[in-house]
Amino acid sequence: MPLDLGGFGISRFTFDDFLYKKALARGVSFILNTEVDHITYHDDQFVVQTGINTYTTDLVIGSFGKRSRVDMTLKRDFIQSRSPYVGVKYHIRTDQPSDLISLHNFKEGYCGLSQIEDEKFTLCYLTHRNNLKSYGTIQAMETEVLSKNPFLKSVFQNSEFLYDRPEVINEITFATKSPVENHILMAGDAAGMITPLCGNGMAMAIHSAKILSELVVEYSSGKLSRDQLERRYSSEWKSQFAARLWAGRQIQKLFGDVWASNLAVNLIRRSRPIANMILRKTHGQPF
Ligand SMILES: Cc1cc2nc3c(=O)[nH]c(=O)nc-3n(C[C@H](O)[C@H](O)[C@H](O)COP(=O)(O)OP(=O)(O)OC[C@H]3O[C@@H](n4cnc5c(N)ncnc54)[C@H](O)[C@@H]3O)c2cc1C
Repeated sequence: MPLDLGGFGISRFTFDDFLYKKALARGVSFILNTEVDHITYHDDQFVVQTGINTYTTDLVIGSFGKRSRVDMTLKRDFIQSRSPYVGVKYHIRTDQPSDLISLHNFKEGYCGLSQIEDEKFTLCYLTHRNNLKSYGTIQAMETEVLSKNPFLKSVFQNSEFLYDRPEVINEITFATKSPVENHILMAGDAAGMITPLCGNGMAMAIHSAKILSELVVEYSSGKLSRDQLERRYSSEWKSQFAARLWAGRQIQKLFGDVWASNLAVNLIRRSRPIANMILRKTHGQPF
């Protein structure tokens, strides 16, 4: 179906490099190849520790993605329980129109295919770890489970795979998180991750960063106290994203078993109002 807002595909690799160069040109300094181990807050100041150095600062933005060691040191709620979802990603060359995003279902999972830069495509699927357990290897699972879907079978058989091995991400969780934790202002997936079938994670991460940046500017010019900054960000984040994340989680449940998944796909294909409603509930507005 047509997407009213349009869209374009780009890999994180290319996009991050673009943002990095923009920020460098604006005078941002980067400490590369260094992980933050620990962040503590005391007396209105943060202490940020890496393996090599310790930094003090009065604001910390957590933009460390869906799952990081910082989440563990903060003992965030979602990190206490295991998540059954595994993500697998390839870059491929294949025969699909450049303006089409296709989403294919299979038992206990789904797979998205869309064009990125240089006429490459990203093929990324999310599966319950039961599938991997049952078949032992990624390749066996792709042959035995994903290829039961004839569209996916054709993609696996007729595409050029550009990685030696797929990129595999374990423990992907869509649990509710808090946008402010121990005074750290969380942006992007660190604040909450939308289920990938909505195809909107990068746009949401950028949008949350925009909301946060505008509030940080107000805080820095003395118009907001720390308490006001945290409250405003929490409330704006929730009103912008909480319902979309919830809707994404409910829709993803339909992809659990074969029967529900086939029913859902058929219903969406045959009923434009239902498809439109799903788009409205999961996609944002221009910002
Ligand atoms: C299977 C799957 C499919 C997806 N498909 C799509 C899609 O089609 N379209 C879409 O828009 N989105 C998609 N997404 C979501 C999208 O990838 C994310 O929403 C987006 O990348 C979030 O950006 P981010 O900057 O918050 O986090 P990330 O892109 O994860 O970036 C976080 C960065 O922080 C770094 N980091 C982590 N911990 C530390 C630390 N302790 N110290 C220093 N650095 C640290 C990481 O190395 C990483 O570079 C998908 C996600 C999954 C799992």
